[in-house]
Order: sequence, then structure tokens, then C-alpha cells
Amino acid sequence: MTRLLRRITAVAFATCLSALLFLPPHAGATLPAKPSLRLGDAVRPLAYELNLAMVPSADGFDGRITIDLELARAQDGFWMNATRLRVKRAVLDAGGKNLQAAIVPGGDDFIGLQFPESLPPGKARLTIEYSGSFSAVETRGLFKQQDGGEWYAFSQFEAMNARRAFPSFDEPQWKTPWTVSLDVRRDHVAVSNTAAVAEEAIGADMKRVRFATTAPLPTYLIAFGVGPFDVVDGGTAGQKRVPLRYIVPKGRGAEAAYAAKITPRLVELLEDYFGQPYPYPKLDSMAIPITVNFGAMENPGLITYRSSLLMSRPEREDESFRQRYASVGSHEIAHQWFGDLVTMSWWNDLWLNESFATWMARKNVRRFNPEWETHGRSEHERQQAMHADRLATARKIRQPIVAREDVDNAFDSITYDKGGAVLTMFETWLGEDGFRDGVRRYLKRHAFGNATAEDFFNALADTDPSLAKGFASFVEQPGVPHIAMRLDCTGKPALHMTQERFLPARKDGANAQSWTAPVCLRIDGQDAGKPFCTVLRSRSEKVALPVDHCPAWILPNPKGAGYYLSSVQGVKAIRLAQAPLKPEEAVSMLGDLSLLVNSGSFPADVLLDLVAPFAADPRPEVAREAAEVASDLYPTLSREEDRRRYAAWIRNHFGKRAVELGWLDRQGDSDAVRKLRMSLLPLVTEIGGDAMLRDQARQLSLGWLRGDGVPLGGMFRQVLRSAAFNGDAELFDALAQAVVKSKDSDARNEMYKALGSFRAPELRQRAFALVLSDQVDAREASTILYHAGETAENAPALQQFLAGSMDALMKRLPDEMMSRMPRWGQNLCTAGDRERYKQVFGPRIEQYPAGARSYAQALETIDICIGSRKAQETRLSRFLAGKRIEG
Ligand SMILES: [Zn+2]
Repeated sequence: MTRLLRRITAVAFATCLSALLFLPPHAGATLPAKPSLRLGDAVRPLAYELNLAMVPSADGFDGRITIDLELARAQDGFWMNATRLRVKRAVLDAGGKNLQAAIVPGGDDFIGLQFPESLPPGKARLTIEYSGSFSAVETRGLFKQQDGGEWYAFSQFEAMNARRAFPSFDEPQWKTPWTVSLDVRRDHVAVSNTAAVAEEAIGADMKRVRFATTAPLPTYLIAFGVGPFDVVDGGTAGQKRVPLRYIVPKGRGAEAAYAAKITPRLVELLEDYFGQPYPYPKLDSMAIPITVNFGAMENPGLITYRSSLLMSRPEREDESFRQRYASVGSHEIAHQWFGDLVTMSWWNDLWLNESFATWMARKNVRRFNPEWETHGRSEHERQQAMHADRLATARKIRQPIVAREDVDNAFDSITYDKGGAVLTMFETWLGEDGFRDGVRRYLKRHAFGNATAEDFFNALADTDPSLAKGFASFVEQPGVPHIAMRLDCTGKPALHMTQERFLPARKDGANAQSWTAPVCLRIDGQDAGKPFCTVLRSRSEKVALPVDHCPAWILPNPKGAGYYLSSVQGVKAIRLAQAPLKPEEAVSMLGDLSLLVNSGSFPADVLLDLVAPFAADPRPEVAREAAEVASDLYPTLSREEDRRRYAAWIRNHFGKRAVELGWLDRQGDSDAVRKLRMSLLPLVTEIGGDAMLRDQARQLSLGWLRGDGVPLGGMFRQVLRSAAFNGDAELFDALAQAVVKSKDSDARNEMYKALGSFRAPELRQRAFALVLSDQVDAREASTILYHAGETAENAPALQQFLAGSMDALMKRLPDEMMSRMPRWGQNLCTAGDRERYKQVFGPRIEQYPAGARSYAQALETIDICIGSRKAQETRLSRFLAGKRIEG
């Protein structure tokens, strides 16, 4: 039985805790040394019963948790996880006795429980009464937010934040049943992982809502929501006709319409892939107005989303929103099997969760709507991964987790994107059906339990044992392979292949590394349908080619199915532009070469020669990639004259098509054409400086801000940003006023990005200052700073602003942001800017060790840019002036 706990004041609590602290333990009692990260195996939780009293408008909450335990051996006491909780009482029922614990403070992550006599091994039951505070700034632990003047309380526990809501054994390997009850206001809705099974009144204005006992779950997947929500009934879905609901802020039920429409289909497609029904008895999707450091969370039965990912005002619902929800929804629902049903044993295998969900989202959206999910999105993710993985400071996919900050920065492109790309590579090796069967075996073997990377490899390897070795070589080592290929036609045509780690910032031999890598090639003179494939197992190998004549061209890694970069000697790169490449082959090739160029490892002028014909390619996805490559090269140019010539080159090759497409989507445009417009129009307007498109963007933006009712549709973001890039005070004022008034968080987000794009120095300063104003929520408005850091022209000015304002800024932003904020400097490209960046962030990293990795990575990225500029700028300058350097 649980009871409602009345809140007590901090003063009363302080007395209480000190009384507990001085309870004399029995003679000679010793608590083991405080753990540094993990709790060890002396005590194991078997089941939790949790009661929380949550009134979102209050400062804090009260809790009572009862834990069935198994003590592995006799002991005087033990450590648990708890962060900033005020324990009032802790009593252990063991061996027929009720023993009151003395609480030993254990810093930020732990509390020690020390008992008056030695505890026997075996079962015991621990009950702790405590209280805690809601954060109104952070979005981890239990926190509260306002929407439409009403307060709501939410939870976010991954990775190590359940300990902020209840004392517990907060590690993923302990999966136990949970029986939760919430004491809430009578007029509030309370939700958790399972359905409410009973409700009873407590006094005049409270009620207790009891939830069904859960399947075995780890602490990090427990979730709650309390407030005056709208609950939208979404019918049922899947083999077991599971009920679906959408939990959204009061009065906003209509905004969940699209999610309600397609979620059943997303669930059914996933059931089909996994070969088993959705594993839990219900599926609620809940909106959180603002989230920091996460977009959505896969709590079993209660997935939470940043509201702009789940909800859209009917008049603003566009293709971008629909595709985003289909993608994020697929990711989170896939986690219900991969992560929830089968959970990693420890955080070093976080990649098992995230790589898989990333990869599965692509597959599921492709099955949901093939037009949306062509190869472009997964290719983009592969490029992102290689961009991060070319650093000497890159993490491994499976990085040991030995300190808390290792988990904080494990949620990066390596875990998500590289992991996803590596899964694609081995799926290609095994074949789609063989891979799917391995996934099904893995889920069956470990259902409702835990598993490791080895378990996953073994389940796949049932069909191909050599695969586990290849997989491990990519998962256990950092870095992206660079495979140099040299064509040898002295006898029967052959390729000499040599692999090493691609490390553009290091020239000291640190790149000697090799992988077991499946390598495929398309070769001139061969059947186009079937690439030639082999497995590279050592650092250097000679491979005979299945052709009789010396080929005119060789395309390594067709469609980017392999996770590596490559270069071919002995055939001219330019011949590839004339080769009959499929669209996805051209896209991957251009992407790889662009990364090499921007790392100073391939001549930029040769790339531009290649890009030029693709810019006019009739296939929209190919022209789009050409536009992206041209855009990515721009920061290499620092001289005004070169930038002007580059603008002319851009207009010359891309201008006509941009003007034909125009700013706004047209009825009947294919998805590929819409995406081409999104890349091409900003390129020609911003970098190309096209005067007519610039004026149009300005007029459209001003019209939209005045409420003229011009629908910008899917081009909303691009129109606003390109207008702001060239914007004046009139546009700035209109945007700054609109962003303060807007009640649409998605629109605000786009307006903040636009505000970070203004290049006029005075306007840029005003945009930065807005983040410190009381009129905005700094967590949202910091998008201005993030976006300025992404813009080559604004990145140096941002550092100047931060040098003077960092302290004021940190007062307004949650600490958890510091793990990512150092990335705001990664687009700097001069030695002077690098120095200023170090002065701003260096001293703060000491305070926030979670930021150390992104800080080191930003510095290395800056070094690569400086090196690339040095290697490319003269060549590029001569090329643009029509006086190119040969060779
Ligand atoms: Zn995920």
C-alpha cells in the first residue's frame, strides 16, 4: 500500500537528513568504497513499486519507492544511484527485521545505505521515502514546462537520469517489473508505460492513478507525463490490435492528426520485418514542448517527442513535417523491439540500439513511401559519419564507457550514422533476407532480456561465420578506411588495393590500420546490374578483375554501400563523368570526393570539373548532390575576389535551373524535385548572389511575416534563411517581432535559424543579443547561435560575442547543453579564430568534462579546414580565374 506524501520544506528535510546521518551503525560496520561509475553485483533489484506525487505547478515532487532485492552476500550496507533527491526515510525488511538505514551522501550520483546490523544474503525489501525538485530549465530527470499557460510535468531518463526521479539501481542490465502509481490533481491526466487500471480519490482535489505492472524494464525506459493533456484516441494497430493514443497539450489535439493517420501503418510494417507482434500492451505518443539534447525517446508504451516532431498545425503541415514524423516515428517504434524488448547490457553497446533504429528508420520509410526514401537520406548519413570519423579524436562505435561523460557524448554521429552505415554494408554482404533472419533470431533469443554486440554478431553469423570478424573490425576500431586502388593492365587487368585509416589531420603514421572490408566495384565493360565484389582482409592485396580489356573507368563502392573512402589511380577521374552511372552511384561518388576535397586530399579544381556536367543532369537527385558539393566547397575560399568569381561560376552552372524551379513548390512536383529546390535555390541566392532570387526571397518573407497568407510550404526554411542572409533592418525587425509573438514552436525554430543568418554586422549583433533577452526562451533562441556557427561568414563573429557573453548565457541555458556547445566553433577556419575559440571554450571545459570530446573534435575540424584551405586555395583561385594549374 502506498500513501500520499505531503511535501516538506527544505529546512525540515535538512534536519531530517542530518538525524539520519548520525544514526549509529553497528560496531565495525563498513560501507564498501563509493563506486566511481557502476554499482557492482552485491545487490540486485528484482521488482520496483513506485509512487510519485506530482503537481506540475509546484516546485517539486514526493516519492516512495519499494524495491525487492536479492543480496548476493552478507554485507553492512550498499550504494545506490540518486541525484539531488532528499531522502526522508529508508527501511530494509530483511530476515524478518525492519532495519533503518543511515544515509551516506555520495556526491552527484550515489547515496550509501548503512545498516545497524549486518544484512544476511538472500531476499530483502527496501522502502525509501524522499522528495525532489522539478527542473524548469533542464529536460532530464523529472521536469516541468508550460504550454498555453498550463504547467505539465514530464520525464526523460536516458542515459543516467532516472536517478534524479527515484533512488534506484540505474543501470540497463537490471530489467525488472515496475508497478507505478501517480498521485495527481483530479483534473489532470497521468500517463506512464502501461495503461491505468484504477483510480481513487485522495482528499478533495487529488487522485491516485494506478498503472498495470510492466514487462521487465530497465530504469532508463520508465516514463511519466502529468497535466491537463488532450488525449487523442488513435484506434488500434498491429497483430494484437494494440490501442494507440496521442497525449498533447490542452486544446491542441487536432495537431496530432497526421501522426494518428500513419502510426498504425508504421507499426504494422515493423511487425512484418521483425516477424513478431508489437511487444507491449499499448502505445502512447506524447508531445514535450521543448527538449534539450534529444528529439524523441523510445519509452516502451509511452514514446515522447519534441512537440514539433509529433504535431503540426493543419495549415503548416507540409512534406518536410510528414517525412520527419515518418522517420522519427519509425526510429522510436523500431526501438520497442531493438532496445526495449532486447536491451544492451551496458552503455558501450548503445550503438546496438541507435545504429539499428537509424538504419531501420530508412528501411521502414522506404517501405511506407518509396518516393520519400530514395538513397539520398542514408547516403547523407554515411557522409555525416565519415565527416566525424576522419578525426583522430573520433570514438569507436563500441566505445568503452568508463566515466559518466563517456555516456553523455556517446549520442553522436558515430553511434547513429556510422553504425547505420556499417549495418547497411553487412546487410549488403549477407543479403536482405539473411540479415533479416539474423535480426529475428537475435530478438527471439534475448526477448525481455539483455544482450551484447557478440550476441548480435552470433545471431547473424548463423548464416556466415566470417561476417562476425568483419563486423567487429568496424565496430571495435575507430576511423574510416581509405582504400587506394591502382589499376594494373600490364597483364590481365588487376587492381592493387591498399587500405589505411583516413586521417587528414595527422601525417605521423597513425593511419596504419586495417579492416575486413567487403569491397564492390563497377567496371567499364561489365554487366551494369551486378557489381564485382570481394573481401579485403589484409592491408594490401592484388585482385584480378573479371574483364579482358583494360577498363576506361572503375567506380569503387557503387551506391555507397560500403563504409570506406577510395581513390583510383590509373584511370582519370573525369572519365567517370562520362560513364553511365546510375543516380545513386553518381550521388555517392560526388559525396565521397567532396569529403576528400574538404579534407585537403583531392584537388578541388578536378572536383569542380566533375561537378559541372552533373549540375545540368536531368535526374534531380544527381543535380541536388552537385549543388550540395558546390555549397560545401565555399568555405575553402577566403579571398573576396575568389568568392566573387565562385559566385559567377555557381550562377553559370546552376542559375538557369534555379530560376526555372522558382522558390515555391508546384502542384505535381516529385519529391526529388522538391528536394532539389531546397538545395539549389539557397545555393544560387546566397553563394551565387542572384539578385532576382534574392528579391523574391525577401518579398516572400516580408509577405509571410505580415500575414499575407502566401503559403511557403516546404520551402519555408529556405525562403526565410536566404532572405535573412542578405537581409536588412526592415526584415530583421519583422522577424524579431514575429518570433517573440509566435505560438508555433516549429515556426519559431525556423525564424531563429534565419536570425542566425544575417550577415550585416549590426544586425548580427542584435540577433546574438536577442538570445539574452527576457522575451525569449534561451533554450530555443540559442538556435540563433548554433546556426551562426554553421554559417562561414558568421562563425568568427559568434566567437567574439561568446567571449563577452558566455557567463550570462550559461546562466540561461541548462548545463546539459555544454556537452554539445563546443560544436559551435567547428566551422572556423583560421589560426586566429582557432585561438579565440580556445580562449572562450578551453576554461569552461574544465567545469563541464562532458564537453571535452566535442571541444577536441572542433579543434581538429578547424585544423583540417585550415590545412584544406592551404592545399586548395591557390589551385581553386587559378581555376576560377581561368588559369588552372595542370597536374
Ligand atoms: Zn534512438
